[in-house]
Amino acid sequence: MSEPAARPGPRSAALFERARRFTPGGVNSPARTFDGVGGGAPAFIDRASGARIHDVDGNAYVDYVGSFGPMILGHADPAVIEAVQKQAAKGLSFGAPTGLEVELAELICDMVDSIESVRMVNSGTEAAMTAIRLARGHTGRNKILKFAGNYHGHVDALLVNAGSGALTLGIPGSPGVPQSVVDDTLVATYNDLDSVAEAFAAHGDEIAAVMVEPVAGNMNCVPPVEGFLEGLRALCDDHGALLVFDEVMTGFRVHPACAQAHFGVTPDVTALGKIVGGGMPVGAVGASRRVMETLAPTGPVYQAGTLSGHPLGMAAGIATLSQIRGGAVHAAIEPRLDALVSGLEARARRHGVPLTVQRAGAMFGLFFTDASRVTRFDEVAACDGAAFRRFFHAMLDHGVYLAPSPFEAAFISRAHDEEAIEETLNAADAAFAAVAR
Ligand code: PLP
Repeated sequence: MSEPAARPGPRSAALFERARRFTPGGVNSPARTFDGVGGGAPAFIDRASGARIHDVDGNAYVDYVGSFGPMILGHADPAVIEAVQKQAAKGLSFGAPTGLEVELAELICDMVDSIESVRMVNSGTEAAMTAIRLARGHTGRNKILKFAGNYHGHVDALLVNAGSGALTLGIPGSPGVPQSVVDDTLVATYNDLDSVAEAFAAHGDEIAAVMVEPVAGNMNCVPPVEGFLEGLRALCDDHGALLVFDEVMTGFRVHPACAQAHFGVTPDVTALGKIVGGGMPVGAVGASRRVMETLAPTGPVYQAGTLSGHPLGMAAGIATLSQIRGGAVHAAIEPRLDALVSGLEARARRHGVPLTVQRAGAMFGLFFTDASRVTRFDEVAACDGAAFRRFFHAMLDHGVYLAPSPFEAAFISRAHDEEAIEETLNAADAAFAAVAR
């Protein structure tokens, strides 16, 4: 295969130069920079369709970022685009209820067993923020237990680093987050029930909720070990705490009825985002009617939003979820992901590159490690970061777009057909060779 030109190209570089003058770091979300893979201009995107994104220099990439999760149908799905266009022609936002909100709420409640009632918000961060306020208001308790390496958006109280030791009181994860705001946040170890039991032993009757990503997707892709989610359920029940699944990433991706259906563990509260809005800025919080009615206006816990239930977001969400319901999208994806994973493993072996691939539904992650399974944050952090960086750039140069960080999960869509998979595997052959050099 001839060596392609290094990508992205001069137009992306020029836009990056301009962007940095007017926006911190040139991006509107830090996950979009290439800082984690050696820096430089990221690809600036012009358009996307199906499995591919196209940058402003005319390069096409097979895309495994999928807007960081929402695009499970592929980019610019015709039904989603048509629904949004039709709705846009009727007006953008009204500040009064619409039938679209009812339709999406009914779809969510129909698809997700644990949800009887749902409140729409504008992002995954808002969904997580609302979920913990709801849990605190409902239980009358203040403490939240979360896991090191899990991410719940940039909510102050959840932007917390683990201190040293297995069970730690949180320390602020960012300047601007006061210690007082995280004093009620406990941090335990993902996939380690003992660390959770320890927290309940020390603070049992103060813990309002355990907040967990049912598959950890912000430390690459780490599924729960056997018994972990079940153990969280039992500990929460024993101590009167609510179990909150942050399914912003896993919702409708790991399974058409969310990760909770895949693993057979029922949370009290679910935070949704990404796919629920089909690529528009939508989040949602759902639970039993009894828990949800703690929220205003039926209950005392305040929550609101000028643009919540936005008509365009609702239209995109309905057009997306109604295709996912019934399972055809996931059934189409599974054999493609089988082929991709086995193809990647075979090519890594051929080049003598230690690689472990983990997956759950339509998400997956590549770990450059000798370990056959990665279950903890410290094991993710111990993987070969330099190998990932070389692999990332070689894949990009050969027309495959991965998230520019070894801590992000990868996302496949229904539009990743055999041709896209073959293109990816051809690129991977060259990329593993570059890693091995
Ligand atoms: N929760 C999880 C599990 C996420 O992965 C993310 C974003 O990646 C969020 C919450 C925050 O969502 P948003 O970026 O839409 O605010």
